[in-house]
Amino acid sequence: MPAQTRANRPSLDAYWMPFTANRQFKAAPRLLVAAEGMHYTSEDGRRVLDGTAGLWCVNAGHGRRRIAAAVEHQLATLDYAPSFQMGHPIAFAFAERLGAIAPGGLDRVFFTGSGSESVDTALKIALAYQRAIGQGTRTRLIGRERGYHGVGFGGISVGGLVNNRRAFPLLPGTDHLRHTHDLARNAFVKGQPEHGADLADDLERLVALHGAETIAAVIVEPVAGSTGVLVPPKGYLERLREIATRHGILLIFDEVITGFGRLGAPFATDFFGVTPDLVTTAKGLTNGTIPMGAVFASRAVHDALMTGPENAIELFHGYTYSGHPVACAAGLATLDVYEEEGLLTRAAALQDHWHEAMHVLRGAPHVIDIRTIGLVAGIELAPRAGAPGSRAHAVFVDCFEKGLLIRVTGDVIALSPPLITERAQIDAMASMLGDALARAA
Ligand code: PMP
Repeated sequence: MPAQTRANRPSLDAYWMPFTANRQFKAAPRLLVAAEGMHYTSEDGRRVLDGTAGLWCVNAGHGRRRIAAAVEHQLATLDYAPSFQMGHPIAFAFAERLGAIAPGGLDRVFFTGSGSESVDTALKIALAYQRAIGQGTRTRLIGRERGYHGVGFGGISVGGLVNNRRAFPLLPGTDHLRHTHDLARNAFVKGQPEHGADLADDLERLVALHGAETIAAVIVEPVAGSTGVLVPPKGYLERLREIATRHGILLIFDEVITGFGRLGAPFATDFFGVTPDLVTTAKGLTNGTIPMGAVFASRAVHDALMTGPENAIELFHGYTYSGHPVACAAGLATLDVYEEEGLLTRAAALQDHWHEAMHVLRGAPHVIDIRTIGLVAGIELAPRAGAPGSRAHAVFVDCFEKGLLIRVTGDVIALSPPLITERAQIDAMASMLGDALARAA
C-alpha cells in the first residue's frame, strides 16, 4: 500500500505551494494522505502525531464524522446560495450560535473565507465605523512589530514581518507598536511574563506623534502565534484597552489562532478578561475542514453602521463565500463537537501537565527559551551563525521523519496540538522533540 501510493504520486511541478521553499520541498516532499484523531498518515504509510493541529486549526482532532456528515448533508441540500441580497437559514443559525459564545459578548458576526479576509474585514469595519460616527479623519491603523495578520494588503501593512512586507506596496498611514519579546527579562516563563506591560504605552506615544484624531484602530494578536508564540506580559492587554478607549481608538484582537479553545477558554478575550471592539477568527471555526472566517463586532460598532437610510447598503464589503452554507454546516457541527466534548475549556485542565512536559526541554541543546500558555508552546533555539532558522528547520524535518509534526517559524518551534490530546501524547511530543534536539546537536 505505501509503495503503491508513492507510485501514484502526481507530478509536483504545477502546484505553486504557499509559504514554502518550493524547489527544496519538491526535491524531498513530505506528503500527508490521511488523518484520524491525533494522527496523520504520511504517503509512505507512517503514523505522524499531529503536534500542531494542522496549522493551528484542527482543534477537535481529525476525521470527525459528525462534521463530515453535516457537510455531506448540506452539499446535497443547498450547495450554494448568493451571499448578497439573498440569504439562507443556516448562515443566520450559525451566527446566532456563535453569538451565544461570542468573545466578550461581541455578538454581531460578519462571515469571511479565511483569517486574512477576517483581518481586512475588521480593519475596514473599523474605518467605516469611525466615519459613521463623524470621525472620518481617523484613517490610521496601528499594528505591532512581529505581528502576523495574514497576507491581504491590510494584514501585511499592520503586520510586522519584514519578509511579508518588503516586496509589496503597503497601505499608507500605518504604524506599529513594539513587540513584547524580551528574553533578557522574561525567559522560560509558564503563562504570562511579569515584565513589559509598559510596552502598551507605545500606543500613547503614537497618539502623541500622530494625533488621536488620525487613528482608527489598533490590532494585535492576544498571543502572537505564527511569529514565535509571544505571550502578552501581565497587564499589557489591559493597558492597551485603557489607552485605546481613552483616545477613541477601536481595539481589534486577532484571534485566528487563539479562538475556539486554544488557551483553555473559548477565546483569548475571555481568557485574559479584556474585551476589544472587534475580534477576528477563522481556523478552529470549522475545525479547519472548510475554509471560513468570522469577525465578531460589538453592538456599538455594528449599530453605528445601521443608522443610514433603510434601503442603503450599510457596508460596501463582502465575499461570494461569506456565510457559505457548507462552511456554516461544518461550523455548526464543529460547535456541537466542541461543546459536547468540553473542548473550548479542555486546555485549562491540561495546562499544568503541558507546562511541565514542555519545560522538561529546558537544557536541551540550543534551547534558549520555552514559552507556554494554554495548549501552545514556543521553544526557541539559538540561531546557527549565518543561517537563521536552519537549525529549527532541520529539527522539523527530523521530527517528521520520526513521526511528529511540529511547526517552525524562524528559530522557534511551535507546538499546538488538537485540544483532544491525551496527556500521554503530550509526553510523547516532548520526548520525540527532545530526541530530535539531541540529534541536531
Ligand atoms: N491572523 C493570524 C493571527 C493568523 O495566525 C493567521 C494564520 N496563521 C491569519 C491571520 C491568516 O489566516 P489565513 O491563513 O486563514 O488567511
